Amino acid sequence: MTSESIDRAMGGPRDLASDPGRWRYARVLGPILLFGASAHALFLALFALLDVPVLVAFNAASIALYLLLLYLARHVDPRVLVLVAMMEVLAHAWLATHYVGWVSGFHFYPLILIPLIAFLTLFSLLQRCLLILLATLVYAAMALAYTTATPLVPLPDVVAPWLSAINAVSVSIGLSVFILFYAVAVQNADNLARASQERLKHLAATDPLTGLLNRRSMDIHLQQAVHHRDPAALLLGDVDNFKQINDAFGHDAGDRVLEAIGETLRQAVADHALVARWGGEEFLILIPGDNGTHAARLAERIRRLVPGCWQESERPVTMSIGIARLQAGDTVARFANRADQALLEAKRAGRNRVITAPGADATGT
Ligand code: GH3
Ligand code: MG
Ligand code: MG
Repeated sequence: MTSESIDRAMGGPRDLASDPGRWRYARVLGPILLFGASAHALFLALFALLDVPVLVAFNAASIALYLLLLYLARHVDPRVLVLVAMMEVLAHAWLATHYVGWVSGFHFYPLILIPLIAFLTLFSLLQRCLLILLATLVYAAMALAYTTATPLVPLPDVVAPWLSAINAVSVSIGLSVFILFYAVAVQNADNLARASQERLKHLAATDPLTGLLNRRSMDIHLQQAVHHRDPAALLLGDVDNFKQINDAFGHDAGDRVLEAIGETLRQAVADHALVARWGGEEFLILIPGDNGTHAARLAERIRRLVPGCWQESERPVTMSIGIARLQAGDTVARFANRADQALLEAKRAGRNRVITAPGADATGT
């Protein structure tokens, strides 16, 4: 899992200078800034009730700052937004703890910054480590300074535990939201990576014109068939006089004929065999488990179906087919070569026919 793929999953850029979507991070930061402004509005009301004018003023300034950052989100580097917001969180936590004491629970807020910064790939890993270190040091300094200190404005006994609990819960919710958000982003990035891996595998194994297996992947299946030595038969089909179709109707029309033949072969073999485009206008069909009998029937069926693939010419398109059966001691080359020899024979004998290589059980047409 790379930070780039997480970035892509959450719609954020890695390289701010060159990525045209460099401000997309503003979309993520926007709701966070709005949440910050709302939280400070609540704190402002609370400190007004508790009569702490310094914190009322600070929170009013914080609201203004968050709204300003929100306004600037599309115009300034998002890293600046993050740094300013981070400093505000630390300053508020410090000041609130200084006035209403450790027991108020305002010291929890710097902890929210840790997961936020950790996953923020806007910054380099080193920068993120340094920012997390800063938040941790501020937290530790606050603990040293205020855990046992008497606050300037002691909270009433009924208020203190409630405020502490509310702050703990809201920090916990904040942490959970961030972590879940990034967990979903990681999952999306993972799905994205898996899907593109599957797509690449598919592209590498198929012929782009017909969608059939390509020669490379059929070669792997042939090697497996030869290796396992189970019965297997090969059909090698070649379109007759295909050059004439290209010459008379153009290369695009030729392509459409090949596509149609590919589809016909796919339907003819269904799940019983593997079909590949072996070369320009050559198709190879591997029938695992067949001793040649089924191959002959299938070849004949294909030979009869092929003329239906192209209706635009007076002379129908036809196919010659050579059949070979896997024999003891065969290599892939020998196996394929026998099918090729049978095909050549079919061509020599006048095309539009099926010939079975010697040694196979099946009888040719
Ligand atoms: P034969 O009956 O002896 O097989 O004659 P043929 O004309 O089919 O054979 P030849 O080998 O002379 O010509 C094959 C032609 O197939 C030549 C080549 O331009 C064409 N071809 C190969 N690949 C493609 C392709 O992807 N699209 C199109 N349209 N034509 C192709
Ligand atoms: Mg041909
Ligand atoms: Mg050919």
